[in-house]
Amino acid sequence: MSEKPEHLRCLIIGSGPAGYTAAIYAARADLKPVMITGPLPGGQLTQTTEVENYPGYPNGRTGPEMMEDLKAQAERFGTDVRNGWVTKVDFTGPVHKVWVDETTEIHADTVIISTGASAKWLGLPNEIRLRDIGGGVTACAVCDGFFFKGQTVALVGAGDSACEEASYLAKLCPKVYMLVRKDHFRASKAMVHRVENTPNIEVLFNTEVKDVHGEHAVEGITIVNNQTKEESRLDVTGLFLAIGHKPNTDIFKGWLDMDEVGYLKHLPDSSKTKIEGVFVSGDAGDKVYRQAVTAAGTGCMAALDAERYLAAKGIH
Ligand code: NDP
Repeated sequence: MSEKPEHLRCLIIGSGPAGYTAAIYAARADLKPVMITGPLPGGQLTQTTEVENYPGYPNGRTGPEMMEDLKAQAERFGTDVRNGWVTKVDFTGPVHKVWVDETTEIHADTVIISTGASAKWLGLPNEIRLRDIGGGVTACAVCDGFFFKGQTVALVGAGDSACEEASYLAKLCPKVYMLVRKDHFRASKAMVHRVENTPNIEVLFNTEVKDVHGEHAVEGITIVNNQTKEESRLDVTGLFLAIGHKPNTDIFKGWLDMDEVGYLKHLPDSSKTKIEGVFVSGDAGDKVYRQAVTAAGTGCMAALDAERYLAAKGIH
Protein backbone atom coordinates (compact mmCIF):
# COMPACT_ATOMS: atom_id res chain seq x y z
CA MET A 1 0.00 0.00 0.00
CA SER A 2 1.37 3.44 -0.88
CA GLU A 3 2.17 5.86 1.95
CA LYS A 4 -0.26 8.65 2.81
CA PRO A 5 0.97 11.99 1.40
CA GLU A 6 2.48 14.42 3.86
CA HIS A 7 0.00 17.13 4.90
CA LEU A 8 1.28 20.67 5.50
CA ARG A 9 -0.31 23.87 6.59
CA CYS A 10 1.93 25.98 4.36
CA LEU A 11 3.96 25.01 1.32
CA ILE A 12 6.18 27.57 -0.38
CA ILE A 13 7.25 26.95 -3.97
CA GLY A 14 10.45 28.76 -4.96
CA SER A 15 13.41 30.14 -3.05
CA GLY A 16 14.09 33.71 -4.14
CA PRO A 17 13.58 36.79 -1.94
CA ALA A 18 9.79 36.35 -2.16
CA GLY A 19 9.87 32.71 -1.05
CA TYR A 20 12.32 33.28 1.79
CA THR A 21 10.46 36.31 3.11
CA ALA A 22 7.22 34.35 3.01
CA ALA A 23 9.04 31.57 4.87
CA ILE A 24 10.35 33.91 7.58
CA TYR A 25 6.86 35.28 8.24
CA ALA A 26 5.11 31.91 7.98
CA ALA A 27 7.63 30.22 10.28
CA ARG A 28 7.39 32.97 12.87
CA ALA A 29 3.58 32.59 12.73
CA ASP A 30 4.10 28.89 13.50
CA LEU A 31 2.73 27.66 10.16
CA LYS A 32 5.66 25.22 9.97
CA PRO A 33 6.36 26.05 6.33
CA VAL A 34 8.11 23.70 3.95
CA MET A 35 9.92 25.30 1.03
CA ILE A 36 10.63 23.48 -2.23
CA THR A 37 13.56 25.40 -3.68
CA GLY A 38 13.06 24.82 -7.42
CA PRO A 39 15.79 24.19 -10.00
CA LEU A 40 17.78 27.32 -9.09
CA PRO A 41 17.97 27.43 -5.27
CA GLY A 42 18.17 31.07 -4.22
CA GLY A 43 16.66 32.26 -7.49
CA GLN A 44 17.90 34.88 -9.92
CA LEU A 45 19.95 36.75 -7.32
CA THR A 46 22.37 33.84 -7.12
CA GLN A 47 23.37 34.81 -10.66
CA THR A 48 24.23 38.41 -9.85
CA THR A 49 27.26 39.96 -8.25
CA GLU A 50 26.85 42.99 -6.02
CA VAL A 51 23.39 44.00 -4.77
CA GLU A 52 23.50 47.61 -3.66
CA ASN A 53 19.85 48.59 -3.59
CA TYR A 54 18.49 46.17 -1.00
CA PRO A 55 17.77 48.10 2.19
CA GLY A 56 19.81 47.14 5.22
CA TYR A 57 23.10 46.48 3.43
CA PRO A 58 24.83 49.87 3.50
CA ASN A 59 27.97 48.39 1.94
CA GLY A 60 26.18 46.10 -0.53
CA ARG A 61 26.20 42.32 -0.49
CA THR A 62 26.68 39.81 -3.28
CA GLY A 63 23.51 38.14 -4.54
CA PRO A 64 24.60 34.63 -3.43
CA GLU A 65 25.54 35.92 0.05
CA MET A 66 22.23 37.70 0.36
CA MET A 67 20.35 34.53 -0.46
CA GLU A 68 22.40 32.60 2.12
CA ASP A 69 21.44 35.27 4.68
CA LEU A 70 17.77 34.93 3.78
CA LYS A 71 17.95 31.13 3.93
CA ALA A 72 19.63 31.21 7.34
CA GLN A 73 16.99 33.62 8.62
CA ALA A 74 14.15 31.42 7.34
CA GLU A 75 15.73 28.28 8.81
CA ARG A 76 16.36 29.99 12.15
CA PHE A 77 12.59 30.10 12.66
CA GLY A 78 12.09 26.52 11.57
CA THR A 79 11.46 26.60 7.80
CA ASP A 80 12.10 23.20 6.28
CA VAL A 81 14.01 24.01 3.07
CA ARG A 82 14.05 21.10 0.62
CA ASN A 83 15.78 20.84 -2.73
CA GLY A 84 13.33 19.76 -5.40
CA TRP A 85 11.22 20.89 -8.29
CA VAL A 86 7.44 21.11 -8.21
CA THR A 87 6.34 19.48 -11.44
CA LYS A 88 2.55 19.30 -11.06
CA VAL A 89 -0.25 20.78 -9.00
CA ASP A 90 -3.92 19.98 -8.46
CA PHE A 91 -5.94 22.80 -6.97
CA THR A 92 -9.34 21.07 -7.22
CA GLY A 93 -10.06 20.56 -3.60
CA PRO A 94 -9.85 22.53 -0.38
CA VAL A 95 -6.58 20.72 0.22
CA HIS A 96 -4.05 21.55 -2.49
CA LYS A 97 -2.00 18.77 -4.05
CA VAL A 98 1.54 19.29 -5.25
CA TRP A 99 4.01 16.83 -6.78
CA VAL A 100 7.72 17.25 -6.23
CA ASP A 101 10.12 15.81 -8.83
CA GLU A 102 7.10 14.09 -10.42
CA THR A 103 6.90 11.48 -7.68
CA THR A 104 6.42 12.85 -4.17
CA GLU A 105 2.87 14.00 -3.50
CA ILE A 106 2.39 16.67 -0.82
CA HIS A 107 -0.92 18.05 0.46
CA ALA A 108 -1.11 21.60 1.79
CA ASP A 109 -3.82 23.85 3.20
CA THR A 110 -2.04 26.89 1.79
CA VAL A 111 0.39 27.23 -1.10
CA ILE A 112 2.56 30.27 -1.63
CA ILE A 113 3.85 30.54 -5.18
CA SER A 114 7.19 32.33 -5.51
CA THR A 115 8.57 30.64 -8.60
CA GLY A 116 10.03 33.82 -10.10
CA ALA A 117 10.90 34.38 -13.72
CA SER A 118 13.62 33.20 -16.12
CA ALA A 119 15.57 34.96 -18.82
CA LYS A 120 14.39 34.59 -22.43
CA TRP A 121 16.62 33.30 -25.23
CA LEU A 122 16.52 33.69 -28.99
CA GLY A 123 16.28 29.94 -29.46
CA LEU A 124 19.06 29.59 -32.06
CA PRO A 125 20.64 26.10 -31.85
CA ASN A 126 24.22 27.39 -31.51
CA GLU A 127 23.15 30.03 -29.02
CA ILE A 128 21.62 27.41 -26.73
CA ARG A 129 24.51 24.98 -27.21
CA LEU A 130 27.14 27.60 -26.33
CA ARG A 131 25.02 28.84 -23.42
CA ASP A 132 24.82 25.33 -22.01
CA ILE A 133 28.58 24.75 -22.17
CA GLY A 134 29.40 28.17 -20.73
CA GLY A 135 30.84 29.23 -24.06
CA GLY A 136 30.13 32.94 -23.92
CA VAL A 137 26.36 33.21 -24.39
CA THR A 138 24.70 34.62 -21.31
CA ALA A 139 21.67 36.56 -20.13
CA CYS A 140 23.32 38.28 -17.22
CA ALA A 141 25.85 41.00 -17.98
CA VAL A 142 26.33 41.79 -14.33
CA CYS A 143 27.13 38.15 -13.55
CA ASP A 144 29.36 37.39 -16.50
CA GLY A 145 30.57 40.71 -17.90
CA PHE A 146 33.76 40.40 -15.88
CA PHE A 147 34.87 37.40 -17.97
CA PHE A 148 34.76 39.55 -21.12
CA LYS A 149 36.89 42.38 -19.83
CA GLY A 150 38.88 43.91 -22.69
CA GLN A 151 36.89 42.02 -25.36
CA THR A 152 34.37 42.99 -28.01
CA VAL A 153 30.85 41.80 -27.25
CA ALA A 154 27.30 42.07 -28.58
CA LEU A 155 24.10 42.51 -26.64
CA VAL A 156 20.56 41.91 -27.90
CA GLY A 157 17.58 43.90 -26.65
CA ALA A 158 16.11 47.38 -26.55
CA GLY A 159 14.40 47.62 -23.17
CA ASP A 160 15.58 49.11 -19.89
CA SER A 161 17.48 45.94 -18.98
CA ALA A 162 19.31 45.98 -22.31
CA CYS A 163 20.32 49.62 -21.88
CA GLU A 164 21.40 49.03 -18.31
CA GLU A 165 23.45 45.97 -19.25
CA ALA A 166 25.01 47.62 -22.31
CA SER A 167 26.12 50.50 -20.10
CA TYR A 168 27.54 48.04 -17.60
CA LEU A 169 29.45 46.14 -20.29
CA ALA A 170 30.76 49.36 -21.82
CA LYS A 171 32.73 49.92 -18.62
CA LEU A 172 34.53 46.60 -19.09
CA CYS A 173 34.71 46.18 -22.84
CA PRO A 174 36.28 48.43 -25.46
CA LYS A 175 33.35 47.84 -27.83
CA VAL A 176 29.74 46.81 -27.26
CA TYR A 177 27.39 46.25 -30.20
CA MET A 178 23.78 46.72 -29.19
CA LEU A 179 21.43 44.90 -31.53
CA VAL A 180 17.91 46.30 -31.71
CA ARG A 181 15.37 44.50 -33.88
CA LYS A 182 13.14 47.54 -34.47
CA ASP A 183 14.14 51.03 -35.55
CA HIS A 184 13.69 52.35 -32.03
CA PHE A 185 14.25 51.47 -28.37
CA ARG A 186 11.61 50.31 -25.96
CA ALA A 187 13.56 51.64 -22.96
CA SER A 188 12.84 54.84 -21.07
CA LYS A 189 14.33 58.09 -22.38
CA ALA A 190 16.83 58.33 -19.52
CA MET A 191 18.24 54.88 -20.23
CA VAL A 192 18.43 55.51 -23.98
CA HIS A 193 20.19 58.79 -23.28
CA ARG A 194 22.78 56.91 -21.25
CA VAL A 195 23.42 54.48 -24.10
CA GLU A 196 23.61 57.24 -26.70
CA ASN A 197 26.16 59.06 -24.59
CA THR A 198 28.46 56.09 -24.22
CA PRO A 199 30.92 56.28 -27.10
CA ASN A 200 31.92 52.61 -27.10
CA ILE A 201 28.34 51.36 -27.52
CA GLU A 202 27.36 51.07 -31.17
CA VAL A 203 23.63 50.61 -31.69
CA LEU A 204 22.56 48.68 -34.78
CA PHE A 205 18.84 49.12 -35.43
CA ASN A 206 16.68 46.72 -37.47
CA THR A 207 19.25 44.08 -36.66
CA GLU A 208 18.78 40.46 -35.60
CA VAL A 209 21.16 37.63 -34.81
CA LYS A 210 21.04 34.88 -37.41
CA ASP A 211 23.71 32.54 -36.07
CA VAL A 212 26.38 32.22 -33.41
CA HIS A 213 29.77 30.81 -34.41
CA GLY A 214 32.35 28.90 -32.41
CA GLU A 215 32.82 25.31 -31.30
CA HIS A 216 33.64 25.76 -27.61
CA ALA A 217 33.32 29.53 -27.26
CA VAL A 218 31.76 32.38 -29.23
CA GLU A 219 34.01 33.47 -32.09
CA GLY A 220 31.54 35.66 -33.92
CA ILE A 221 27.90 36.13 -34.88
CA THR A 222 26.06 36.56 -38.15
CA ILE A 223 23.63 39.44 -38.05
CA VAL A 224 20.98 40.39 -40.55
CA ASN A 225 19.41 43.74 -41.27
CA ASN A 226 15.71 42.86 -41.32
CA GLN A 227 14.94 45.73 -43.71
CA THR A 228 17.62 45.23 -46.37
CA LYS A 229 18.13 41.49 -45.60
CA GLU A 230 21.86 42.19 -45.75
CA GLU A 231 23.95 39.80 -43.68
CA SER A 232 27.27 40.54 -42.01
CA ARG A 233 29.56 39.09 -39.38
CA LEU A 234 30.60 40.65 -36.09
CA ASP A 235 33.78 39.27 -34.54
CA VAL A 236 32.58 39.24 -30.95
CA THR A 237 33.61 36.80 -28.22
CA GLY A 238 30.53 37.24 -26.06
CA LEU A 239 26.81 37.37 -26.78
CA PHE A 240 24.55 38.85 -24.11
CA LEU A 241 20.78 38.53 -24.20
CA ALA A 242 18.56 41.10 -22.53
CA ILE A 243 15.25 40.39 -24.22
CA GLY A 244 13.02 40.04 -21.21
CA HIS A 245 11.96 37.33 -18.82
CA LYS A 246 9.32 34.64 -18.71
CA PRO A 247 7.56 33.91 -15.43
CA ASN A 248 7.98 30.32 -14.23
CA THR A 249 4.31 29.57 -14.08
CA ASP A 250 3.68 26.88 -16.70
CA ILE A 251 2.63 24.30 -14.09
CA PHE A 252 -0.22 26.57 -12.98
CA LYS A 253 -1.77 26.79 -16.47
CA GLY A 254 -5.40 25.80 -16.31
CA TRP A 255 -5.55 26.33 -12.54
CA LEU A 256 -4.80 30.02 -12.11
CA ASP A 257 -5.46 33.12 -14.20
CA MET A 258 -2.44 34.58 -15.94
CA ASP A 259 -1.76 37.24 -18.54
CA GLU A 260 -0.59 36.46 -22.06
CA VAL A 261 3.06 36.25 -20.93
CA GLY A 262 2.27 34.02 -17.96
CA TYR A 263 2.35 36.45 -15.03
CA LEU A 264 -0.11 35.19 -12.42
CA LYS A 265 -3.09 37.38 -11.66
CA HIS A 266 -3.97 38.21 -8.10
CA LEU A 267 -6.53 40.42 -6.39
CA PRO A 268 -5.55 44.09 -6.09
CA ASP A 269 -3.62 44.92 -2.89
CA SER A 270 -3.46 41.23 -2.08
CA SER A 271 -1.53 38.07 -2.87
CA LYS A 272 -4.76 36.05 -3.26
CA THR A 273 -5.33 34.17 -6.51
CA LYS A 274 -8.73 32.95 -7.64
CA ILE A 275 -8.16 29.69 -5.75
CA GLU A 276 -8.73 29.92 -2.00
CA GLY A 277 -5.56 29.21 -0.08
CA VAL A 278 -3.24 29.74 -3.05
CA PHE A 279 -1.20 32.93 -2.96
CA VAL A 280 1.34 34.46 -5.32
CA SER A 281 4.41 36.55 -4.53
CA GLY A 282 7.48 37.89 -6.32
CA ASP A 283 8.21 38.05 -10.03
CA ALA A 284 5.78 35.22 -10.85
CA GLY A 285 3.00 37.77 -10.38
CA ASP A 286 4.83 41.04 -10.98
CA LYS A 287 5.81 42.25 -14.40
CA VAL A 288 6.17 45.85 -13.34
CA TYR A 289 8.66 46.20 -10.49
CA ARG A 290 10.63 42.91 -10.47
CA GLN A 291 13.01 43.98 -7.72
CA ALA A 292 14.36 41.89 -4.85
CA VAL A 293 12.82 44.26 -2.34
CA THR A 294 9.38 44.27 -3.97
CA ALA A 295 9.53 40.48 -4.23
CA ALA A 296 10.34 40.32 -0.52
CA GLY A 297 7.43 42.66 0.22
CA THR A 298 4.95 40.51 -1.64
CA GLY A 299 6.38 37.39 0.06
CA CYS A 300 5.48 39.00 3.37
CA MET A 301 1.98 39.76 2.06
CA ALA A 302 1.49 36.15 0.94
CA ALA A 303 2.49 34.75 4.33
CA LEU A 304 0.17 37.16 6.15
CA ASP A 305 -2.66 36.28 3.75
CA ALA A 306 -2.00 32.56 4.31
CA GLU A 307 -1.97 32.99 8.08
CA ARG A 308 -5.27 34.89 8.01
CA TYR A 309 -6.82 32.35 5.66
CA LEU A 310 -5.91 29.47 7.99
CA ALA A 311 -7.20 31.39 11.02
CA ALA A 312 -10.50 32.16 9.28
CA LYS A 313 -10.90 28.49 8.35
CA GLY A 314 -10.00 27.39 11.85
CA ILE A 315 -7.10 25.27 10.57
CA HIS A 316 -4.46 24.88 13.29
P1 NDP B 1 11.27 44.36 -21.85
O1 NDP B 1 10.20 43.35 -22.07
O2 NDP B 1 10.90 45.75 -21.45
O3 NDP B 1 12.14 44.52 -23.18
C1 NDP B 1 12.57 43.41 -23.88
C2 NDP B 1 13.31 43.91 -25.12
O4 NDP B 1 13.83 42.78 -25.79
C3 NDP B 1 12.42 44.66 -26.09
O5 NDP B 1 13.08 45.78 -26.57
C4 NDP B 1 12.20 43.65 -27.20
O6 NDP B 1 12.13 44.19 -28.46
C5 NDP B 1 13.46 42.83 -27.13
N1 NDP B 1 13.25 41.50 -27.63
C6 NDP B 1 12.36 40.56 -27.19
N2 NDP B 1 12.48 39.42 -27.89
C7 NDP B 1 13.45 39.64 -28.79
C8 NDP B 1 14.03 38.86 -29.80
N3 NDP B 1 13.63 37.61 -30.02
N4 NDP B 1 15.01 39.40 -30.55
C9 NDP B 1 15.42 40.66 -30.35
N5 NDP B 1 14.92 41.47 -29.39
C10 NDP B 1 13.94 40.96 -28.63
O7 NDP B 1 12.27 43.66 -20.81
P2 NDP B 1 13.31 44.30 -19.81
O8 NDP B 1 13.93 43.15 -19.15
O9 NDP B 1 14.18 45.28 -20.49
O10 NDP B 1 12.44 45.08 -18.76
C11 NDP B 1 11.37 44.45 -18.05
C12 NDP B 1 10.72 45.46 -17.12
O11 NDP B 1 11.66 45.85 -16.09
C13 NDP B 1 10.31 46.73 -17.82
O12 NDP B 1 9.11 47.19 -17.27
C14 NDP B 1 11.44 47.68 -17.51
O13 NDP B 1 11.04 49.04 -17.56
C15 NDP B 1 11.85 47.26 -16.11
N6 NDP B 1 13.26 47.59 -15.83
C16 NDP B 1 13.55 48.78 -15.26
C17 NDP B 1 14.87 49.15 -15.01
C18 NDP B 1 15.15 50.45 -14.39
O14 NDP B 1 14.25 51.29 -14.36
N7 NDP B 1 16.34 50.67 -13.86
C19 NDP B 1 15.99 48.26 -15.33
C20 NDP B 1 15.57 47.04 -15.95
C21 NDP B 1 14.26 46.72 -16.18
P3 NDP B 1 10.86 45.04 -29.01
O15 NDP B 1 11.02 46.40 -28.40
O16 NDP B 1 11.10 44.98 -30.45
O17 NDP B 1 9.63 44.31 -28.57
